Amino acid sequence: MNDIYDIIIIGGGPGGIGSAIEAKALGLEKILLLEKSDNHSDTIRKFYKENKRVDKDWQGQIVEIEGNVPFSDGTKESTLDFFDDLIKSHKMDAFFNCEVDKITKNEGLFNVRSSKGDFVGKSIVIAIGRMGKPNKPAYKIPAKIRSRVNFNLDKCSEGENILIVGGGDSATEYAVELGKSNSVTLNYRREKINRPNPTNIALIERAFKDATVTPKLGVDIDSLEDADGLVQVNYKDGTTQIYDRVIYAIGGTTPVDFLKSANLALDAQGEPIIKENLESSVEGIYIAGDIAFKSGGSIAIALNHGYRIVKDIMAK
Ligand SMILES: Cc1cc2nc3c(=O)[nH]c(=O)nc-3n(C[C@H](O)[C@H](O)[C@H](O)COP(=O)(O)OP(=O)(O)OC[C@H]3O[C@@H](n4cnc5c(N)ncnc54)[C@H](O)[C@@H]3O)c2cc1C
Repeated sequence: MNDIYDIIIIGGGPGGIGSAIEAKALGLEKILLLEKSDNHSDTIRKFYKENKRVDKDWQGQIVEIEGNVPFSDGTKESTLDFFDDLIKSHKMDAFFNCEVDKITKNEGLFNVRSSKGDFVGKSIVIAIGRMGKPNKPAYKIPAKIRSRVNFNLDKCSEGENILIVGGGDSATEYAVELGKSNSVTLNYRREKINRPNPTNIALIERAFKDATVTPKLGVDIDSLEDADGLVQVNYKDGTTQIYDRVIYAIGGTTPVDFLKSANLALDAQGEPIIKENLESSVEGIYIAGDIAFKSGGSIAIALNHGYRIVKDIMAK
């Protein structure tokens, strides 16, 4: 506990793993990875469906891998195995079930407070993603139906009548997959689905055509109501429909409280202010992965952040 780490990485998703592997590859000696769940890559484990296709060029963003992590297309399972092997083969200190809640700077060193005690480091990478707090709708979710209103597929079972809300890759992938064994409607507030990557657009258009997914496009939801334990959705066009389950796939929220607890400057939207070298307003604290963006991000981009950050640290 009294060791001083060259780099302390907070968050064991792609941004954190990438930073740790690059730190090892580029020659930093004392590396510590802290992850709040019981294993690495919690977002991939919780939000990707089984056997999900994992695209390197996610959401149409073509990314060349810059560093030492040869990530390529695969599935949820192959991606988790790939990260498992990387962590095991690059020996480093990694603590799981270790949630960080505060970072303070004192005489050029950082004190990182976590559920497993305090750690001291020379540089910090914050790579905690956005999916710890999935985006929620602005309207109220009545308490009685809360268990039927979800943000991932964990609670779904076959044969349910499900509404998916969202118009990005996650929403369309969820809809296409669930449409194979459920009655599925996809609701998006815009008339056209054009945000997902070309593969997902083709798949959802096919699903609409084959009627395995029913489109409900160009209309927002006004409110949700309890209908004898099921979810009544009241749309803004005056129509109403009852579903067994509603799943929102509308991205995640910036962990503002965490960033404030590290004393980082935020812009008017509550996003961290980040320099070109991915350093925050506090010298020595870097931001990697999804929280470096207002929206978007991908595994390959997060891995590249790790490479750029470690190179910047080594150059100082
Ligand atoms: C449904 C879905 C499908 C997707 N499909 C693809 C795809 O096919 N291809 C692709 O490239 N991208 C895809 N993405 C996006 C991709 O998952 C993200 O861009 C990527 O995971 C971002 O990595 P990250 O390290 O920034 O954050 P995350 O992956 O969110 O990792 C953050 C980690 O930090 C941990 N953490 C959070 N708070 C703390 C704390 N206080 N202390 C310690 N640890 C903490 C979390 O438990 C988590 O393990 C998809 C996303 C979703 C939601």
